[in-house]
Amino acid sequence: MSLPGKVWFVGAGPGDAELITVKGRGLIEQADAILYAGSLVSQAALNWAQSRCAIEDSKDMTLEQITTWLIDQAHRHTTVVRLQTGDPGLYGALVEMVRPLDQAGIEVGVVPGVSSAMASAAAAVESLTLPEITQTVILTRIEGRTPMPEHESLYELAAHHCTLCLFLSITLLKEVSRALLDAGWREEDPVLVVQKASWPGEEKIVRGTLADIRERCIAERITSQAMIIVSPALGARHWPDIRRSKLYDPGFSHRFRKAHPSS
Ligand code: SAH
Repeated sequence: MSLPGKVWFVGAGPGDAELITVKGRGLIEQADAILYAGSLVSQAALNWAQSRCAIEDSKDMTLEQITTWLIDQAHRHTTVVRLQTGDPGLYGALVEMVRPLDQAGIEVGVVPGVSSAMASAAAAVESLTLPEITQTVILTRIEGRTPMPEHESLYELAAHHCTLCLFLSITLLKEVSRALLDAGWREEDPVLVVQKASWPGEEKIVRGTLADIRERCIAERITSQAMIIVSPALGARHWPDIRRSKLYDPGFSHRFRKAHPSS
């Protein structure tokens, strides 16, 4: 009997099919079977698949049905792809799916993807880090049906006053603002919400403050597939002055460039 094939967990990127990696696209082209997260992954990515490839949408499947399908396909084919939104390692149930495959003796590989956190910042031309303003990004969510581990409440994380990218939290904007205000942020602090970042023709960018972002999102009918970014660096593109990054500073030497003597 031949050995089972390999199951690849491929990050499809945030929406725009062109934001998949070259490696991810190569695996789609090569795949014998693809299981994709229907409501979140662009159908356009499937156009690269061969006509003989078995393609299935997982939107109505339970985790058990997903892993059973993957194991079954791996017993019949060489290359099986599980196409996931953004990066598979962020809120993607990756470990839950890999463990049954491990138990079944199926080889597994992961191809990273562009997360919606990065795509949302890019859509709004924002940097998640800025010298002397914030050098830290926290990728998190507010507590919903999934309980937060100890010391990871939004209130505790917000106390760091760095950049926070909030997944899966758009329906809880009132609670988000409350947690940040309790942690010392101000009502006038800026908030960015991006819905369907990078989806051609569907992306929405909403800017507001902790005080009014909820009303603005309600007005725009944004209730799903949206990233919330709060950061002391938001809007820096339009500040009168910013600290420059040492990386491109003429007076700063690094491995690839000597400091300019006159600076
Ligand atoms: N693995 C994915 C996240 C999956 S969880 C990633 O790395 O992006 C689903 C959450 O991701 C949504 O609730 C929303 O907060 C966010 N999200 C996914 N796609 C998005 C997009 N195109 N624009 C904005 N937010 C998105």
